Amino acid sequence: MTEQNDQVVRQLVEKVLQHVETGWGGRVAPTTGKGVPEPITAPGYAPASAGMPAPPTATNRFGQFTNVDDAVAAATTAQRALVRRSLAQRESACELIRQICRNQAEELGRMEFAETKIGHEPHKAQKLVVAADCAMGTEALKTGCFSGDYGITLEEAGPWGVIGVITPVTHSLPTLAVNAVNMIAAGNSLVCNPHPSGKKIAAYGAMLFNKAIYEKLGIDNLICVITEPTLESANQIFSHPDVGLLVVTGGPGVVAAALRSGKRAICAGPGNPPVVVDASADLDNAARCIIEGATYDNNLLCLAEKEVFVVSSVFDQMMDAMSRAGAHRLTPQQMDQLAGICIASPSGGGIPHAVKEFVGAEPQALAQAIGVSISPSCRLLYGQTNSSSPLVQGEQMTSVLPFVKCDSFEQAVDLAVEAEHGFRHTSIIHSRLVDHMTYMGKAMNTTLFVKNGPSLAGNGGGGEGYGTFSIACSTGEGITTPMTFTRFRRCTMVENLRII
Ligand code: NAD
Repeated sequence: MTEQNDQVVRQLVEKVLQHVETGWGGRVAPTTGKGVPEPITAPGYAPASAGMPAPPTATNRFGQFTNVDDAVAAATTAQRALVRRSLAQRESACELIRQICRNQAEELGRMEFAETKIGHEPHKAQKLVVAADCAMGTEALKTGCFSGDYGITLEEAGPWGVIGVITPVTHSLPTLAVNAVNMIAAGNSLVCNPHPSGKKIAAYGAMLFNKAIYEKLGIDNLICVITEPTLESANQIFSHPDVGLLVVTGGPGVVAAALRSGKRAICAGPGNPPVVVDASADLDNAARCIIEGATYDNNLLCLAEKEVFVVSSVFDQMMDAMSRAGAHRLTPQQMDQLAGICIASPSGGGIPHAVKEFVGAEPQALAQAIGVSISPSCRLLYGQTNSSSPLVQGEQMTSVLPFVKCDSFEQAVDLAVEAEHGFRHTSIIHSRLVDHMTYMGKAMNTTLFVKNGPSLAGNGGGGEGYGTFSIACSTGEGITTPMTFTRFRRCTMVENLRII
């Protein structure tokens, strides 16, 4: 072999080894797309350093705004900058948000609890880790394709632009974080009017997210927060001409307001998830699952077990199973007492609602309010009520669970349908009978229907599938993902590019 041949072989071997190490092809992901519009120069945008670390300047707002018009203008600039970047850069913005939620969960969770004063403190950090784990990014964007005699057609998921977001007090930062990841992955920016009782943690979280994104990508204000949110600022967002889509997570009032706005609204509204337990159920498993779901963050989750309907033949055994699993049983009189202080009935009729003072309260605080002493380790109170109890009909969001004795499985399902009020949110069954599961699933018509597990399993927590903090039960989009926040766009090439 000549020296020249030797060199050729060596080069070939080096190339092969390089490919083995780095994968085929030596290309790195582009920082900008092809044929993108001219760079936008506006406060909070550093076009020259796309992809390079950007030092903050005096004009950076990091998403903190008191005025809706200013917030929407900044979010518009940010969104235009975002769509000039590659998908890889979008994904890196999403990953920065996830990392902050994961790495600073303890500190941010403590801050959320200190401000909102509701729920179970240890679960606040956990919820931020869950937010980081469940928030889907660009991998969730799907493209459709048709290929035939007339050419090629692509169906792409495009951004809306600026999304107006409303978040609840029950999970202020986790909701904002997951919404932000999903929406940015889809190419949007957002302007959020947080719940006034969770405004500081929402604004602080957004500041951390924006800062990290700016330092890495040179884009500020992808996540804008109204730092002094009011109903007026919510309405300004609802009617702003540059806000393309509304996404609200909250109770019936805000859902109705968003739907009246005239804009497309994705609404993750209220629930009042019933549980049905039939005679075939594994009662000890049912008790453990009910306690796991209902005690998570002191029952603040919209999908958590709120009332239980048990067939009479196993009612007493089910009540005993709850005790064995660690819940504290109250008398029917004590349940009525709690209903009187935890739930308010509107004077003009309508669905009862939770009293703010007891939302997300620890069971010890509820017990103390009615003069009962319970163990410090107890996580849930429970007891028998009738189905018309305000604890059954109202979305109680606290550490007490009403149990209703039913004459038959069919009656239990009828009462469950009534208690769910047509929210189409979540329902749960404990049964070994597939016929019963099918019957209840059809009757309830809920977005999530969980069999033989805790409610959390329906949202990816111990069940298969993905999850979120915004379950759009009111408008039908279900468990929201980046695709939920996209617009359908079709791109057709006529009589070309079909290569087969
Ligand atoms: P809430 O309805 O009191 O407030 C939710 C948000 O809406 C807040 O930001 C609030 O300021 C705003 N708001 C309320 N009324 C408004 C109006 N008329 N106009 C504009 N904005 C308005 O609810 P909350 O106590 O913060 O959260 C608990 C509720 O949210 C429960 O009903 C729960 O089921 C629901 N929720 C649903 C989901 C879901 O994924 N479906 C998730 C979390 C919470």
